[in-house]
Amino acid sequence: MQKLSQPSLLKTTSYINGQWQASPEQFAVLNPATDEVITKVADAGVELVEKAIAAAVQALPKWQGLSANERATLLKRWYELIMQHQNDLAILLTSEQGKPLTEAAGEIAYGASYIEWFSEEGKRAYGDVIPAPSSDKHISVVKQGVGVVTAITPWNFPNAMIARKAAAALAAGCTFVVRPSELTPLSALALAELAEQAGIPAGVFNVVIGLDAPAMGKVLSQHKDVAKVSFTGSTAVGKLLAKQSADSVKKLSLELGGNAPFIVFDDADIDAAVKGAIAAKFRNAGQTCVCANRFFVHESIETEFTNKLIAAIKVLKIGNGLSAGVNLGPLIDPKAKAKVDSLIEQAVADGAQLHYKGESELVVNVSETSFVQPHVLTQVTNEMSIAQQEVFGPVVSIISFHDEATVIKQANDTDYGLAGYFYTENLKRVFRVAKALDFGMLGINEGIISNAAAPFGGVKQSGYGREGSKYGLEDYMSIKYLCFGGLI
Ligand code: NAD
Repeated sequence: MQKLSQPSLLKTTSYINGQWQASPEQFAVLNPATDEVITKVADAGVELVEKAIAAAVQALPKWQGLSANERATLLKRWYELIMQHQNDLAILLTSEQGKPLTEAAGEIAYGASYIEWFSEEGKRAYGDVIPAPSSDKHISVVKQGVGVVTAITPWNFPNAMIARKAAAALAAGCTFVVRPSELTPLSALALAELAEQAGIPAGVFNVVIGLDAPAMGKVLSQHKDVAKVSFTGSTAVGKLLAKQSADSVKKLSLELGGNAPFIVFDDADIDAAVKGAIAAKFRNAGQTCVCANRFFVHESIETEFTNKLIAAIKVLKIGNGLSAGVNLGPLIDPKAKAKVDSLIEQAVADGAQLHYKGESELVVNVSETSFVQPHVLTQVTNEMSIAQQEVFGPVVSIISFHDEATVIKQANDTDYGLAGYFYTENLKRVFRVAKALDFGMLGINEGIISNAAAPFGGVKQSGYGREGSKYGLEDYMSIKYLCFGGLI
């Protein structure tokens, strides 16, 4: 790993109730570009999860008792510290996750932007006064943080998925326990170190790291003192958590998988579409839930779009994300590579044409076990497994189409409903297609859609609940109605 300017950001134990909590068992955190062990971290068992929840319960009255302004000051301080240490945090992130350093720095800024944005939005969690049915009564509605929140987060955005959830939860007055992916615990622990430095009180933000996701997840989703569970990850685990949390009727936010269509109509600005496609497909080597997964391209422009896209792909530099100029890193681990390789193989067996396969030399100091070169497949159909599964790799699948009605039907023909993209210069078509596509978020002539002011989330089996925006804050609040009587 490149040297950190502040080595104290490399933490190796869980952070519970303001204490770094050693435990006897350890596991290794690997760099997916080199397969080298970055460090070993302490494996918190179920007992420490219980301890973290107890700490969050204990800290709740004090944190809820602060004014929104007081909480905002602490959150703002946390945001500033994260931005001050952006470079170190990016090195940690790239080392454990693989994405290029510039992208990692972008993720740090993106995650921090939620903390800054929600520090302000927390001050605007207004209630209502409702006209009462009789003049001796007064009705008001207030919003309060739901209580203790647990979060389970994935490896693909190991900093931002935590910052995005914690920002809204803490601004709403909730206390927080997160279990990050066992593949990427270091970014989470660095966030805890900076939360501590920011003066966020003990027990408000806790991180438990460990290998046994199912056992830890059971406690996080079933514990009687937990009011809400916020999960980002696969649909399969989301369904399991929904079942596990049902008995105690918890609030639940699920940010699950996606299968985004990227539609290029015949009247699109093709250069803009190519630029958007590169951003929507190759960011994080295609391991993003809002990644373009199926490229529907109008038959009349397919050759031009495909050629221009391949030209843009050819300049991508693939290798160790810590090396200068690299813009395509490895997948998270060999298992992920094997899945992508087998989807490509299956697609070709199903009749897709392998139109382009990258052959760039990998840039310095890498082990090849988790790298996938960019691929472009044409003659894909919407029924093929490569079009129906989330690929999570740098693979472009092009499906040719003839008319608007059919492409809308095909784009919607998926169990997922997270993000979608389409490119057209026709205003009437913009409104028609935007209304017809069944996804929680749409990029219209735009390949990057997520920001703190906007509601991030999906429909169908992509989950429910929103992160970011006023809707994201409401997801961490409950509504309390107060009826005042005998006023005359
Ligand atoms: P995953 O569901 O396997 O893992 C997500 C997290 O859940 C990890 O921390 C993992 O350790 C944990 N986990 C695994 N099994 C568990 C269990 N039984 N109980 C509790 N926790 C458990 O997914 P992943 O492979 O880490 O991430 C990739 C998936 O996440 C993709 O499908 C992707 O689309 C989705 N994702 C969605 C979003 C979004 O915002 N919608 C963002 C990122 C990733």
